[in-house]
Amino acid sequence: MTESIDNLFKSLTVAEKAKLSTGKDFWHLHGVERLGLPSIMVTDGPHGLRKQLGDSDHVGLSVSVPATCFPTASGLAATWNVDLIERVGVALARECLAQQVSVLLGPGANIKRHPLGGRNFEYFSEDPFLTGAMASAWIRGLQSQNVGASLKHYALNNHERGRMVVDVVVDERTLREIYLPGWEACMGDEQPWTVMCAYNKFRGTYISENEYLLKTILRDEWGFEGVVVTDWGANHKRVEGVKSGQSLEMPGTGDVNTGKILAALGDNSLSEGQLDESVRPVLNLIARSAGALDAEASVDLAANHDLARLAAEEACVLLKNDGGMLPLSTSQNVLVVGALAQRTRYQGSGSSLINPSHLEQPLDEIGALAGDRIQFAEGYRLSGQEDVELCDAAAAMAADAERIVVVIGLTPEYESEGFDRTHMRLPFNQLQLMAALEPYYDRTVVVLQNGAPVELPFKDSAAAILEAYLGGQAGASALARILYGRVNPSGKLAETMPLTCEDTPSNRWFPGHYRQSQYREGIWVGYRYFDTAERRVAFPFGHGLSYTSFELTDLSVNPNGVDGAVDVSLTVRNTGARAGAETIQVYVGQQNPSVPRPARELKAFRKVSLEPDESRRVSLALDRRAFAFWCVSENRWVVEADEFRIHIGVSVADIRLSQAFRMQSGRPVAEPNAALAAYFDPGSLPFDDAAFEGLLGHAIPEPLPVKPFQMNSTLRELRANWLGRLLHKQATRRIAKVFGGDSLDEAHVGMLNALVNEMPIRSLVMMSQGRVTEGAVHRLIHAMNHNWWRALVGGPVRSE
Ligand code: BGC
Repeated sequence: MTESIDNLFKSLTVAEKAKLSTGKDFWHLHGVERLGLPSIMVTDGPHGLRKQLGDSDHVGLSVSVPATCFPTASGLAATWNVDLIERVGVALARECLAQQVSVLLGPGANIKRHPLGGRNFEYFSEDPFLTGAMASAWIRGLQSQNVGASLKHYALNNHERGRMVVDVVVDERTLREIYLPGWEACMGDEQPWTVMCAYNKFRGTYISENEYLLKTILRDEWGFEGVVVTDWGANHKRVEGVKSGQSLEMPGTGDVNTGKILAALGDNSLSEGQLDESVRPVLNLIARSAGALDAEASVDLAANHDLARLAAEEACVLLKNDGGMLPLSTSQNVLVVGALAQRTRYQGSGSSLINPSHLEQPLDEIGALAGDRIQFAEGYRLSGQEDVELCDAAAAMAADAERIVVVIGLTPEYESEGFDRTHMRLPFNQLQLMAALEPYYDRTVVVLQNGAPVELPFKDSAAAILEAYLGGQAGASALARILYGRVNPSGKLAETMPLTCEDTPSNRWFPGHYRQSQYREGIWVGYRYFDTAERRVAFPFGHGLSYTSFELTDLSVNPNGVDGAVDVSLTVRNTGARAGAETIQVYVGQQNPSVPRPARELKAFRKVSLEPDESRRVSLALDRRAFAFWCVSENRWVVEADEFRIHIGVSVADIRLSQAFRMQSGRPVAEPNAALAAYFDPGSLPFDDAAFEGLLGHAIPEPLPVKPFQMNSTLRELRANWLGRLLHKQATRRIAKVFGGDSLDEAHVGMLNALVNEMPIRSLVMMSQGRVTEGAVHRLIHAMNHNWWRALVGGPVRSE
């Protein structure tokens, strides 16, 4: 095959190669008809197939074919079940094949740096190890069926505000230890067929042309051989991209950028060898996809719905269950409260919006299990509007109920691609409802539907709290089955639930300057901070209760013969009366490191299902890397010859067994680095300029000024000028018209505004496939900069 691809590649003309490096349209790649290479289709992802029927867009506004909507990544990660995620990957691939889709744009491996990140619902975890385990399982499943994955958004796309222009300032060690390992874990034998590069900048250079991230790390260090595709519209300077390890620009931009590539070949600023290196993976991708497209694929949507239910069941995290409030019994009179029980929130908005093949509602599913012992009160309006009558009516009915199940959560306008949340509170009218129900908290079960943490002011007094996440199309029956004990909950938090977002270590710099995001908290992300600084949280990372109980005993930790690697084994026993599953979490901490290190870091885990009284010996392996940190001065992973502690927990805060382990082989522990003094104590947050500069090893760069305007000024920034305001208005009008005008709901209006606001003016050329010329945009910018002469005669504008 390689040889025949070699021959195919050799027979391509330069123009054909240039063409292959850009999309044919919104979702297709170019084929080469004369060589029998088909035009393949790629589409979103990640928790279902979003194959659009009519108009194309990258923000989920146009309708797509019915497909199975699985729980979003927040929920999938809470299963901590890699086999299950792999099965989800297989099911997704079957749906792709039946629709002739060759690459599904997912999974997302960005780290949840802050609870308000707009796309947190699409990402797995705050922890890189868990992220990598989940993402690689998803990819394994999908690609086992010959459908390619697109691991996204590489890298450092951790918030939405200014996502198309923001420059991320992060130190090397934090980059290596927190933000990259999720990707690195997927670069073994079964690499993703494609990696999608993010919109933002890193160290002043757009990622789509960032040689350090794309070439040095991704291709050279990790050996990635697939296609680096730009996020939709993320391409900046096409020729620079080609030189820097990027392969494919999406969506297609007509002849605009292929023309630039050919011109660069003509003036020798790009060599044919460089173009070959960049495009060859595209040809491989088409060739490996082609076979699967010929196969007649069928899909069992009913079976996929059942799989979606299984995933949703395992995604539910029982946060609290005082007095065995759950499970409910069908003999109890239960009042279900909450508009979300009738119109469930099951996925987020934006490019991942799936058109579900079948959608269940919690009230129906609870009714189907418990019959006429159920009553319902709406409690609040989904629109967020206050309604005292609804609230009072629910409270009056609650007085007579034996149990109250309140379904609350974030309504669609809160969580979407394109913008971040502005606070961590639940909608005000839902909090009013909760206040009205306070007298009955001792028999109240709170069910949460949300893609990311919310403040829980009722946490200490409501009897039970169940985090259902965004459970996908079968989330409702999963919820009913958990509430009534048909299924024993086994989900575990893949993120910390802080008390308030002000407690979050990155909060003071989140999202930060519009054009510059400083990751001043360094490695102190999520539980690494809360656990080490001993800060209180609402619920810790890894937490999740069960209707049964487990005992962990007999820990043994032994070197396994391989240099620096260790085998950990222990016995788990189900000590309760129900079958259930516990997730064994292995954390590692170094005693006297020469650099600041978290008290505990997750390095292995295993979900174990056990019948009542059953016990099992579980073994987990830790490789040398589990003990290593990224040494900036040596530019490599280093293990110090020191004492380590292995902690076995059922959450990061519930450590059941611990054992010391002396690492014999390793570099002698060095003197602590004085420049990092502030970072040894995460409790000393916030880190001032001097501390951050010590961590970076250089001065904090100045963010780009808004003026003078340039090719990467966003429409939000251009509003500072009257011409810019006019342009903004026109763009909003046009885009709104394309996507349904007045009929758009609030979530979509928010998304649309974000789309317009965040768009750099350079995108006008690309998105119009050159109909708006670069020259015209340059003149416009000159005019906005009051450079009237240039506006008249034309001339280039900077593109920073
Ligand atoms: C999103 C990607 C998505 C792409 C195509 C972009 O706006 O960031 O996640 O895959 O659009 O829809």
